[in-house]
Amino acid sequence: MRIVILGAPGAGKGTQAKFIAEKFNIAHISTGDMLRSAIAKGTELGKEAKGYMDRGELVPDTLVLGLIRERLQEADCKNGFLLDGFPRNVSQAKALNALLEELKLSLTHILDFDVPESVLLERILNRAKEGSGRSDDNEEVVKNRLKVYNEQTLPVSNYYKEKGNFITVPAGTKSVEEVREIVLDLLK
Ligand code: AMP
Repeated sequence: MRIVILGAPGAGKGTQAKFIAEKFNIAHISTGDMLRSAIAKGTELGKEAKGYMDRGELVPDTLVLGLIRERLQEADCKNGFLLDGFPRNVSQAKALNALLEELKLSLTHILDFDVPESVLLERILNRAKEGSGRSDDNEEVVKNRLKVYNEQTLPVSNYYKEKGNFITVPAGTKSVEEVREIVLDLLK
C-alpha cells in the first residue's frame, strides 16, 4: 500500500493516518512531524522552516521535497507508506509523481477526508483554545492554515480526482471510531 491522505487542518486525518499505518504495517510519513522534529533538533532545515510554520504558511517546496526524497528510500518504506500532510500544493503533487516514477512506484490509494468548512473551523478553534501544545495552534494562525488549505491544498484533491484511485472519506460529523470503520472498509 502506498497511500496519500488529504484533508484540511481539523479533518482528523492525523489520527486516522496513525491508525492505518499501524494496522497495515506501513511507514507513516508526516511532513509536519518531520519539520517539527527538525525544529526541536535545531537543524538548519528546522531554522528555515520555523517562521513559515509559526505563521501557518507552507514552507518552501524544496525543503519538503528533499525530506520526502530521502524518506521514501528508507528501508521501512519497502512494505508501503502513507503520506500525511504531503503533497500540500499541486507542484508538490507533480514532484511526487516524478519521484515515484523514478523509484518505479505508484500510489495505490488517495484518501480525501471531506469535512464541511463550518465543522473544521469549530474543531480547530476548539483545539487552539484547549492548547494542543503546537506553536501554530492559535486562533489567528489556524484561520490562516485553513485559508492556505483552501487556496493551495484543495486543488491537490482535484488534481488526483482526475487520475483514479481517489476515495472520498465522508468524515464530517462522524466520530473517530466511525471514520476508522469507514476507512478500513474502503481499504479492504
Ligand atoms: P501539519 O502538521 O501537517 O499540519 O503541518 C504543520 C505545518 O508544517 C504546516 O502549516 C506547514 O507550515 C508545514 N508543512 C507540513 N507539511 C508541509 C508540506 N508538505 N509543504 C509545506 N509545508 C508543510
